[in-house]
Amino acid sequence: MSKTFVFKFGGASVKDAGSIKNLSEILFNRLRNGLVIVISAMGKTTNRLEEILQIKYRQEDYSSNITILKEFHLEICRQLFEENSSIFPIVSNLITQLEKQLERSLTKENYDYFYDQVVCYGELLSSKILQEYLCSKGYICVWQDAREIIQTDSNHRFAKVNWDQTTANCQKQLAPKLKQFPVIVPGFIGSTVTGDSTTLGREGSDFSAAILASCLHAQSVTIWKDVPGVLNADPKRFSDTVKFEELDYHEAAELTYYGASVIHPKTIKPLANAGIPLFVKSFLQPTESGTKIHHMDYINEKIPCIVVKDDQSLLSFKVTDFTFINEGHIQEIYQGLNELKLKVNLLQTSAISISIVVDRQDFKIEKLIANLQDAFQIRFNEHLQLITIKHHNPITIEKIIKGKEVIMEQITRTTFQVLHKPASS
Ligand code: ASP
Ligand code: MG
Repeated sequence: MSKTFVFKFGGASVKDAGSIKNLSEILFNRLRNGLVIVISAMGKTTNRLEEILQIKYRQEDYSSNITILKEFHLEICRQLFEENSSIFPIVSNLITQLEKQLERSLTKENYDYFYDQVVCYGELLSSKILQEYLCSKGYICVWQDAREIIQTDSNHRFAKVNWDQTTANCQKQLAPKLKQFPVIVPGFIGSTVTGDSTTLGREGSDFSAAILASCLHAQSVTIWKDVPGVLNADPKRFSDTVKFEELDYHEAAELTYYGASVIHPKTIKPLANAGIPLFVKSFLQPTESGTKIHHMDYINEKIPCIVVKDDQSLLSFKVTDFTFINEGHIQEIYQGLNELKLKVNLLQTSAISISIVVDRQDFKIEKLIANLQDAFQIRFNEHLQLITIKHHNPITIEKIIKGKEVIMEQITRTTFQVLHKPASS
């Protein structure tokens, strides 16, 4: 039996015709049976689909947005394929299916379900285009719908994987194909037992790669990115970044927890449990070493790592009855957060109030406030930024907080966090 490897290519690596040609060059001497290739939606397609949903929700006309989305994909295809290629009816057909989905009624109540039925088209389009392109270049590979493999619950937009069923599907459907061909799989999506599409959370294609690797007992996963590997800060925001040659699974998981967008937070756990190494490499410099994330017996030098999270909301819950904050209050708030699947990014308590920082999410924060307003006096700030420094030192802290309008700060032995109001908001 040949060995299984998993590659994942994100939206930036398939954002235009040139990127897809570059991707096929990376695959040139790496494509072989046993290789699973997980693909994200092209460029910013998921954002575009989210915009279409918003327009639909406001009951406004989204038809020109669909035309733009269709044209974006068709134009890429025109640059990659012969005029009579079968990709053109495939793309048109997928867009027609998307339009059909959008004709149904969208309400606040079915929003998350509806989201998944619509947003999955980004990955369906990109993976189909890539498979057809590789085949047209003589690189024979097959396409596998992730929704037939990755089975989830019906927690739409944040679906949880049914690992037993997904493993069985991998062994039954994917493994036999992999014996003969490389297989292209759309990332980010799965389906419920009744066949409804689900998504795994934004940027979830990394997680798709980890799920498939774990269920297939792969040798490794490689995530191809537009950065040279895992860096100690986002190079788009900071200069003088340092690349890690290797990182322990724990260290990498912690960085993703604080919001490092280089890898999706759920990716590390299944790989660490199965001892499968994760390589993060540059699709612009494919022969460079990148970063290897694996189990390390020793931890290297503690370089300060800076992680920035945008669009944070601060909620302060103040007790109204002259009691002090106790376990009961904390439990009540956490129960409310848990019901809405809101994750706390920072928590601080004082004698009479509890402050929490969460990602902004449509409808959820207003629901939380509505659910808890009888018990607390609630204050709410939006559009804040949370910066976390792991392995902080005084110089890095000073550099980070300089000139900022600080709202909240927290420091432990290893981690410093600051919530501030960005100048532009
Ligand atoms: N296309 C999805 C997103 O943009 C999933 C991914 O790219 O991993 O969130
Ligand atoms: Mg992406």
